[in-house]
This record gives sequence, structure tokens and C-alpha cells, in this order.
Amino acid sequence: MYLGVDIGSLAAKGVLLDAAGTVAAWALVPSGFDHARVAEEVTRRVLAAAGVTPECLVGTVGTGYGRASVARAGRRVTEITCHARGAHALVPACRTVIDIGGQDSKFIRMDERGRVVDFAMNDRCAAGTGRFLEVMAQALAIPLEQMGAAVLAATGAARISNVCTVFAESEVVGLIAGGEARPNIVRGLCQAIAERVGAMAARVGVAPPLAMTGGVAQNLAVVAALEEKLGLPIAVPRLPQLVGALGAAHLARDAVADGA
Ligand code: ADP
Repeated sequence: MYLGVDIGSLAAKGVLLDAAGTVAAWALVPSGFDHARVAEEVTRRVLAAAGVTPECLVGTVGTGYGRASVARAGRRVTEITCHARGAHALVPACRTVIDIGGQDSKFIRMDERGRVVDFAMNDRCAAGTGRFLEVMAQALAIPLEQMGAAVLAATGAARISNVCTVFAESEVVGLIAGGEARPNIVRGLCQAIAERVGAMAARVGVAPPLAMTGGVAQNLAVVAALEEKLGLPIAVPRLPQLVGALGAAHLARDAVADGA
């Protein structure tokens, strides 16, 4: 079997593939501060979920912000390569992947085999990342998981003029105090993220079909704002947060299939 372990800034993910490349099990736990321990924990859980022992592992690839801490990994690969490979496995036609995680966002263009052609990444600033939405969810007193659905009640979009998360948060507090409807504020925030990510699209170029990965892809209002901004539909896998770990597991399997 083949294991992919993705130690992200917020969540650690593990995906186990069988010899045929089918997902046998997956696990997700908070990253915490001890990445080496969480890498072992996510591995233990994913193996237990599949009912197998570590001896079954033919190959393991580590990825994500904390990939250096995946002691078991025979190889460590960037999230960019892994998200492209994982998206290719789920949406084989896709040529562009937008990955928005907890602390960064990436725009990745790839070839017909899921290999990276070009990419842009924002990891300097919380705006345009999951962290931005977490801060705003708190300011709005809307649970993060309900932010996407909240937009269904929007009658318009509040204009968020500050790019910086800290200033945008003050702006949101001001809008609430001024009586702006919360769904309209959420819509405005999603548009602000789409603007930010759209700027990366201009650098890398967009090749359809598109897919979106990472935890923020669970927020359908962000997906809709990006579709509007780019003028193209975006496919979202059922468990988008696991795509990096899935790609890592596929890369572990590819290495054996390619005789590497
Ligand atoms: P990382 O790899 O950096 O840990 P993830 O890809 O796991 O990041 O994504 C984490 C982000 O996903 C969080 O910042 C949060 O904004 C978002 N997120 C997680 N769960 C949900 C959910 N149920 N609905 C909407 N957004 C979510």
C-alpha cells in the first residue's frame, strides 16, 4: 500500500492507497505544534481505519508545510506537486488547480499527466487564505462551516476595500455596526478573496478545466466568487482538503510503477 501524509499549517491529512490506486482509508487531525508526533498519529489512524499494519507500506511520501517531520517518508515533495497530482487523479481533464489552505493560496497550471507547468503562490499575507475567513467568521459570529451557505441569503455584496486582514476585520465590524446584512458582508469577503486569487491567475494564465482543492474549497461561496471572477466553472472534489495527501500517495505509487 502507499501512504501520503500532508502536514498542513492547520490540519494533518493522511491518505492510503491500495496496490490498484484506490483509496483504502483517510484521516484528518489538527496539526498542533508537534509535527513529528502528528505525522505518526495521522499514520496510525489511517492504517487502523484500513485495518492494516505499517509493514504493508511499500512507499510513503510526505508533503505540506511540515513535511520535514514525516519521519516515515521515503521522499518529501512540495504541496504544489502533490495538489496537481491529486487533482489529476480525481479530475483527470483538469489543467488548472486553485488550492486555498489555512495559510497560503496557490494557482497551479499543469499538463495532461498532472505535472506542474507553472504556479503562483501567496504565503506572505493572510488575505486570500483560510485564515482570513477564520478571522472574519469570528467577527461575524458565523461558524466557518456555515459561511458558504450564509451567502444564499445575500441581496447584494458589501464592498470590502481593505486588502489587509487586520484592516478588513475592522471594516467588517464597522459594516455590522452600520446595519449591513451579514450575508452581504460574507459575499463581499468572498469576492475580496477571489480578487486576490484572480491576481495570481493573471500571472500564471488559466487553462480550463479548473478544479479547486484545500480546506477553503468547502466554502461554496468562495468557489462561486472565483467562478464569477474567472468566468469559468470550477470542479470541487468531495473531500478537497485531502487532495494534497492523495497526490502524495499517488506519487509514492507512481515511483514504484515507474521503477524509480
Ligand atoms: P492547511 O493545509 O494549511 O492545514 P487546509 O487545506 O487543511 O490548510 O485548509 C484549512 C482551511 O480550511 C481553514 O483555514 C478553514 O478556513 C478552511 N476550512 C476547514 N474546514 C472548513 C469547512 N467545513 N468549511 C469551510 N472552510 C473550512
